[in-house]
Amino acid sequence: MKWDLDTLFSGGSDSQSLHKYVEQTEEELANLESLVELYTPPKNTEQTGPLLEVVAHIQEVMKRLSEFGAFVSCLSAQNVEDKKAGQWQSKRTEMGARFDNALTAFDQKLVQVDESIFKTMIQQPELKELSFVLNEKREHAKDLLELRQESLINDLSVDGYHGWGQMYDALVGKMTIEYDGEELSVGQAANKLSASDREVRTEVFQKLQSAWDQQSDLFSETLNHLSGFRLQMYKRRGWNHVLKEPLDYNRMTETTLNSMWETITDYKSKYKNYLNKKAEMLELEKLSFYDVEAPVGESGQTMSYQEGAEFIVEQFRKFSPKMAEFAEMAFKKQWIEAEDRSGKRPGGFCTSFPDSEETRIFMTYSGTPSNVATLAHELGHAYHQHVMNDMEVMNQGYAMNVAETASTFAEMIVADAAVKEAKNDEEKLTLLEDKVQRSVAFFMNIHARFLFETRFYEERKSGTVSAERLKQLMTDAQREAYMDSLDEYDPTFWASKLHFHITDVPFYNFPYTFGYLFSMGIYARALEAGESFEDKYIALLRDTGRMNVEDLAKKHLEVDIEQKEFWQNALELCVADLEEFMEVAEKL
Ligand SMILES: [Zn+2]
Repeated sequence: MKWDLDTLFSGGSDSQSLHKYVEQTEEELANLESLVELYTPPKNTEQTGPLLEVVAHIQEVMKRLSEFGAFVSCLSAQNVEDKKAGQWQSKRTEMGARFDNALTAFDQKLVQVDESIFKTMIQQPELKELSFVLNEKREHAKDLLELRQESLINDLSVDGYHGWGQMYDALVGKMTIEYDGEELSVGQAANKLSASDREVRTEVFQKLQSAWDQQSDLFSETLNHLSGFRLQMYKRRGWNHVLKEPLDYNRMTETTLNSMWETITDYKSKYKNYLNKKAEMLELEKLSFYDVEAPVGESGQTMSYQEGAEFIVEQFRKFSPKMAEFAEMAFKKQWIEAEDRSGKRPGGFCTSFPDSEETRIFMTYSGTPSNVATLAHELGHAYHQHVMNDMEVMNQGYAMNVAETASTFAEMIVADAAVKEAKNDEEKLTLLEDKVQRSVAFFMNIHARFLFETRFYEERKSGTVSAERLKQLMTDAQREAYMDSLDEYDPTFWASKLHFHITDVPFYNFPYTFGYLFSMGIYARALEAGESFEDKYIALLRDTGRMNVEDLAKKHLEVDIEQKEFWQNALELCVADLEEFMEVAEKL
């Protein structure tokens, strides 16, 4: 149950080979910096040589920085007390900032290349493979201000923009909730919201509300400054649509986004029925916000790690022998850290080592059905990386909305199999509810976040938005997203949800829902096609880093995701679980 990190760099955070690797990477980075500085935009289509040279160096540094970063995150996850790992982390951040500056400078030079020369150049055999990403880099750079202004923004955002995000984290870290004679962090308290005893949930929820409410003036300050910085930056760049940055980043159109939300809204009444049913099962008139995720039945059977691993491999094999083989290899080579012990970071992740062409999975496995699902989920991420290993490094970068494709797909396979193999109706009900819950989170909770965030940013354009107004906006968004089916909402959710305060990625919400439904759509295809789907699936995954999502869907699924049909098919699959849940619930 423990991973092997020594095959990557032996000796943990004191590793000599890591030292050497980082030193070498720094040299490569310095080389890249001078190459970019010396690079002159070509005047004719024949001059591809220097461009190729810069691109090769970018890819080399990118690969090494990912390898280094991945190793460091593994070190600090396996032991939160590892101080040396913290130092490596700062080193990695500093080198990452230098790399980003070199990239920005390079992109600005690409803009200076004449349009027709550039388009011809990237179609030449030696560059064709990278034409999408190179063109995208140039297009993004065109939307920016000139280099000096952009680097001023970058420098000022360390303390001005990201600073507010860090201030948020610091403030939240100081908050405590008194419960049952204990001082709990807000995270620990929030975990109690999934307790089966409603009195516990009610009390914890009220305590959390009052704690966030007391601090709401502080958090409206951090949120207003952070969003104000973002909007001012957009204004200077001449961007007047707040969704421009997140849509570009996720390589998708607004039509696709709208079509997705509209289809979800069409199906919402079914989820309203589910919430009403759940209220009935919990003997309540109406659910409150803190009842939505409450358990309705007994928890399912537990599985030992060995059993979980075998179950996953067996289910993967039904869809894709290659995926099953990959999972077996990951178990055998000890790519997974699953041991249940103290001193580990909570949560789970999968990280890739593009230089060694390996991955590592981190989680804490205690045998619950949700642990098995997480393990399958992370193996899905690892498989996504695995099928991309031989590709150009620049083509391996996929955005958040497709990042969850392979993981959700893998998780679905295993969750469906678990429902089919349930020993009795009680167990079946619990497993089905787990699946329906996921849909409720993506279709309602995340929808509320999206509605709130777009409306908030619109209002913020004309000035500071007060804490009172933020609460109103949040309650309205939740009421709408949950179709008025709840009794009580969560007005301070804008303060308690970290995602509104993340500065690295804007609008940390709709890509989740996109990824989930996109994967469901693919899963629906796989169910129809059976094993013959395997190669198609691999081909799709390989294109996730070098296409926009509309083209990706057109090429591999022959669908237009700007239209509702694709989303309807995906939703039908989710609704099938819901209907089965209702049937089993009725029976019980
Ligand atoms: Zn994931």
